[in-house]
Amino acid sequence: MVEIHEQEAIMHIHNEQTWYENVHRYTKLLVGVQSISPGMGECQVAEAVLMLLNEGIARETYTQTGYDPIEGDADGRKNVYAFLRGQSEATIVLMGHIDTVGIQDYGELKSFALNPNALTNKRKMLGSVLVGSDENDWMFGRGAADMKSGVAVNIALMHYFAHNMPHIPVSILFLATIDEENESAGMLQAVRLLSRLRESYDLTYVGVINTDYTTAQYAGDPHRYIYTGTVGKLLPSFLCIGRESHVGTPFNGLDANLLAAELIRAVSMNDELCDITSEQITAPPVTLRATDLKTHYNTQLPLMAYFYLNVLTFTTTPEALLERLRHYAESALTEVLTRIDKTEAHWRTIAKVQEQAAQPRTGKVLTYAELYQETVQRLSEQQVQDELAAEWGLWPTALDKRERSLHLVHKLWTISGRQGPAVVLYYSPPYYPHVGATPGILQDALTEVMTAHPEVQLVQQEYFP
Ligand SMILES: [Zn+2]
Repeated sequence: MVEIHEQEAIMHIHNEQTWYENVHRYTKLLVGVQSISPGMGECQVAEAVLMLLNEGIARETYTQTGYDPIEGDADGRKNVYAFLRGQSEATIVLMGHIDTVGIQDYGELKSFALNPNALTNKRKMLGSVLVGSDENDWMFGRGAADMKSGVAVNIALMHYFAHNMPHIPVSILFLATIDEENESAGMLQAVRLLSRLRESYDLTYVGVINTDYTTAQYAGDPHRYIYTGTVGKLLPSFLCIGRESHVGTPFNGLDANLLAAELIRAVSMNDELCDITSEQITAPPVTLRATDLKTHYNTQLPLMAYFYLNVLTFTTTPEALLERLRHYAESALTEVLTRIDKTEAHWRTIAKVQEQAAQPRTGKVLTYAELYQETVQRLSEQQVQDELAAEWGLWPTALDKRERSLHLVHKLWTISGRQGPAVVLYYSPPYYPHVGATPGILQDALTEVMTAHPEVQLVQQEYFP
């Protein structure tokens, strides 16, 4: 590696062309490292990031730099960080993720998904994807936009700051995390690193700049968006319990799939469940999975079905959402049971089956907490705890977290002694709290830049969607 004279380096970085070339080079190199999450590629991309961070004189300048291994990770994956202790303890975190989603959607171009040059040469096959005439305006490749170019910007910034030490007024932490497209294991691990560094260097975190991609909000949108907070996410889950019966006598049972379907119809894509501010609205909820709990074919009505719903939030708390969903669940349950009552009456006339004293069907909607309380009173706290702990231990930690949670809820239902029809409402991971705009030096700086540079057409919005 060639040592560049410090002053010269600062000039180089100030030079717009060199800045662009550096960011371009880093991006292309990082796109070239396959880092689909979860997978071993996430280790390799972490190594590539550290190598780029350490180029030139930066390596000797960082106060601390290296990997931050994910505790207990089966693949030995790791985050990367570099810390510069500046003139004050006030610290800004430059953050990004280095993993990507898969490459299946590249179709026949899959073997070129990590090769921006090859993809540019194949641009004719890309057809309408290319907007505008200048091919140099575009870089194709998995992760180029989301978000290796953002990480590249942060690496270039770290070189700039390293070259300008000790004249940097704040402390800077570069943080690159893995597993963002999956379970956020990288970010959860990073919390430990942030705490450790704060203790070691007596830091005050004043803000985080996440350089993940942002985009136009409509065709021809000239604005660039800066989000000062982020949307939250909850994964409310519904265990729908029917009643067993043979297909020949369905009125004696309840098809759990029918109950789940009715409930899905009520909550999926329902904009009454959106959070609204003066400028933004969350995307409506959608299911991310729905299935019954049968493992094989038989001619019994499915006893249980479950699904989980992705709900984005700006302000709604987990408690408030659960209450709203309880109302939907109660309506859906009543709707299904009333309809079956009517169907049965009608069916009996046609089938000329002797009329019985009609008992309207009833069911119950419970939250996990309510079911738990009820069961503790019936058995004992200790017994319920032991039963649940044993069930939890039965399933490997590698099992999908939603499924492991389901087993726990299923167990609680079984020992509760209750019978369906019922719906049990509970939360599965992950949980991402929403974060609103916070006053502080980052907000002040943003306001200053927006005022000074109207030509950039920056727009501030509160929640990154
Ligand atoms: Zn991203």
